[in-house]
Amino acid sequence: MGADRRGNRQADLRRRLTDLGLDGILVTSAPNIRYLTGFTGSAGILVATTTHTTLITDFRYAEQAPTEAGDVADIMVESSNLWERLRRVLEPGPKRRLGIERNHLTVRDADRLSRMEAAEAVPTTDLVEDLRAVKDEGEVEAIRAAAELAQDALSELLPSIGPGQTELEIAARLELALRVRGSEWHPFETIVASGPRSALPHARASGRRVGVGEWLLIDFGARLSGYCSDLTRTILVGGRADQRQREIYGVVAAAHHAAIAGLTPGLSGREGDALARDVIEAAGFGEAFGHSLGHGLGLEVHEGPRLSRTAPEPLPAGAVVTVEPGIYLQGWGGVRLEDDIHLSATGAQRLSDCRTELLELH
Ligand code: ZN
Ligand code: ZN
Repeated sequence: MGADRRGNRQADLRRRLTDLGLDGILVTSAPNIRYLTGFTGSAGILVATTTHTTLITDFRYAEQAPTEAGDVADIMVESSNLWERLRRVLEPGPKRRLGIERNHLTVRDADRLSRMEAAEAVPTTDLVEDLRAVKDEGEVEAIRAAAELAQDALSELLPSIGPGQTELEIAARLELALRVRGSEWHPFETIVASGPRSALPHARASGRRVGVGEWLLIDFGARLSGYCSDLTRTILVGGRADQRQREIYGVVAAAHHAAIAGLTPGLSGREGDALARDVIEAAGFGEAFGHSLGHGLGLEVHEGPRLSRTAPEPLPAGAVVTVEPGIYLQGWGGVRLEDDIHLSATGAQRLSDCRTELLELH
C-alpha cells in the first residue's frame, strides 16, 4: 500500500461535517470504518466528531483494534453492549447533532440512538462513500495487483478446461488458484456459467457439464489489502465458434473497446454507460443488454460511482470502475467481458489487461 492516508480521509470527512452543520457522525458501515481507520473487524461503531475519532468495539478485537487503528482513533473495548457504551461516551457533553448513515444503520440501532439524551440523529447519505469513490495511489495499486492476480490464476487454469467438466469443478479450481496466489477471499460468489446458462447475468456455478462448442462465462475476482478486482471472460470450449457466436462476441468486444476508449472523468454515469450501449443498440441487441455498464470498485465490489442509464452524476477523477457490457439471449447463451479501469485525471488507465480476442479452447 502507498502512503498512510487515514488522517487525510478523516480531515476530509470533518470538512463535510462542518459544511453540513453536524457535530459528528456515527459510522456503522464496516468498509467505511476500515477506510477511515484501517480497522478490519466486523463489529464496531466509529464516532467521528469535529475534534475526536473514537472506535468502540468488542472484546474479540481487544488486541486487533489498537494494532490496526490505534494511531488514528481512540479505541474503547466494550464487553457488553456497544450502544450502551456509546451512550456513556456521549452523555457528559451537550446535545450534539450526529450524522447517521441512512443506508447502514438498522431501525433497532436508530431507536437506541433516539433514546439518548445527548444525541440528535441526522440522516446522511454516502458521506464516506463519496470520499471512497476517489481512489488514492495506494488503493489503485492494490486493485491493479488484485486484477493481475486474478488474471494469472485464470491463465493458469485455462489450458486444463475442457468439455465434460462441471461448472462447480471449474469454479473450485479457479478459487484454489486465486487463494494459492494470495487472494485474501473471493470478493463475490464466483460465477461459472456454461451453454444456455451463460445467459443468466448472475448465474451461480452449478453441476452442469460444459458441452462441446459452448460458451463458458467466468466472472470472478481477487482481494488484496482489502481491495477487490472484478473480471469476466467468456470463452468457447471444445471447438471453434460458429458465425453467430463470432458475431455476438464481436459486438460485445466492440462495445467494451468503445467504452474504454471514451471513458473520462467528468462524463456522467449515463454518458459512460452510453459509450457501450450505443454500440450494442446499433447492432440490434439493445434489449439483450439489460444491466448497467459498470460500477465502482474498491473495498467493496459494488460501490460508487455507477455507469448506468439512471446515474446523472459526473464520474469523479480518481474513480475506479468496471466496464462490463454483455449480450444475453435466452436459450442461446450470453457473452460478457469485464475489466477494471482507473479514471485518472489524464484519462482511462487499464488496471486489468482488457484482452478481448476470442479465446477458443480445443
Ligand atoms: Zn463481475
Ligand atoms: Zn462487476
